[in-house]
Amino acid sequence: MGTLLIRNAEILVTMDDHRREIPGGGLFIRDGLIEQVGVTDDLPDIADEILDLYGHIVLPGLINTHHHFYQTLTRVVPAAQNVNLFYWLKTLYPIWGRMTPKDIYVSTQTALAELALSGCTTASDHLYIFPNGSRLDDEIQAASEIGVRLHASRGSMSLGESKGGLPPDYVVENESLILKDSQRLIEQYHDPKPGAMIQIVLAPCSPFSVTSNLMRSSASLAREYGVHLHTHLAETQDEETFCLEKFGLRPVALMDELSWAGHDVWFAHSVYVNLDEIKHYADTGCGIAHCPTSNMRLASGIAPIMDMLGAGIKVGLGVDGSASNDGSNLLEETRQALLAARVRAGLIGASKSSDEVFPLMTARQALEIATRGGAAVLGRPDLGSLEEGKCGDFFAINLNKLEYAGGLHDPVSAIVFCAPAKVDYTVVAGKVVVKDGQLETLDVHKLVEMHNQAARRLVNGSN
Ligand SMILES: [Zn+2]
Repeated sequence: MGTLLIRNAEILVTMDDHRREIPGGGLFIRDGLIEQVGVTDDLPDIADEILDLYGHIVLPGLINTHHHFYQTLTRVVPAAQNVNLFYWLKTLYPIWGRMTPKDIYVSTQTALAELALSGCTTASDHLYIFPNGSRLDDEIQAASEIGVRLHASRGSMSLGESKGGLPPDYVVENESLILKDSQRLIEQYHDPKPGAMIQIVLAPCSPFSVTSNLMRSSASLAREYGVHLHTHLAETQDEETFCLEKFGLRPVALMDELSWAGHDVWFAHSVYVNLDEIKHYADTGCGIAHCPTSNMRLASGIAPIMDMLGAGIKVGLGVDGSASNDGSNLLEETRQALLAARVRAGLIGASKSSDEVFPLMTARQALEIATRGGAAVLGRPDLGSLEEGKCGDFFAINLNKLEYAGGLHDPVSAIVFCAPAKVDYTVVAGKVVVKDGQLETLDVHKLVEMHNQAARRLVNGSN
């Protein structure tokens, strides 16, 4: 560890409580933590490493709150291109069932490489299928080599087709083994301290792939250790119908009955929630991982994010698995969040009188969700903004790029409104992960070759 000095940023966006944007700003980071934030002249002159970011915009690192890294192996599978969630899953389960530990390792590196090149410094992943000896450890090992913070979810599926669930029986696990492995992972890897590079999350997959018993047991195990809980919820109308038919409850009410409510719980999606359910989230402290691209790709719908923000709910962004987004670009997802919220506003507006004004999501709101919002969802007060005492996690983009030409009247908004550019620097805990637009921690060409080989093998049908 040592010191890192950032100087002369065109603009430094702090996302602090006053939302300061500092022209000519900089940071002084010591041992991974921010010691000073301000204009360059007020910062120390020397450090172990100095980055002069003249012409760059600097922002807090983006935080991804929902992903399935392994799905980078099954992007654009022809049979899963033009179907909704349940058919998409049924097409892909058998392919995912062929994965090996090495596939988990390689796909984790691919997803994290893409994320880091889009400004992401902390990623949550939801791994819920463990075929052929795969373990969450394979993912944790791969992530530690890249240097991005990881919230690794020990996912699970236990309700196979023969018991009324959606996945085939051969991809589900025994419940006592799931709980035993969950406990092992927490004890082995979970770091609750500020500045943690790795935390463990317990994450049964969805109401249609696990039993109520596993949901309850996972919740009590998570609370015994103080780790967070995560699952998919209210993603599609099919799921709502399934819950009403099987349990006589809407998805949010079902979660409440299973003790899945509180500040330690966050749900992916929540497209199909009404105003009472939004109030329930606000009252209980549940967070949301908003995944607009995935929701569009699978024709799921558009989550009522402006209503959620209005109710004071914690909202973060997620690229979701790469088989339902086909990309892991978090800056692009920020733009998608803004655009999707505006489509929804337009649709609501169309049914009301034309002179009413509907609030439109702003670029700064979208960036706030992607930074502070994600930190709140993951329960990380040490992340999400550039302030003294917080983690030294940020990204920087050179504004003199084709994408932003003509849009520099407001550089902060330009990086959301304009087509997303690859970032020039990504720094995690004061360590440079991306420099001059290139990953410092791995060989991307070699990785792409290995990844494509694995993807071909899986989709063509051999182990
Ligand atoms: Zn998902």
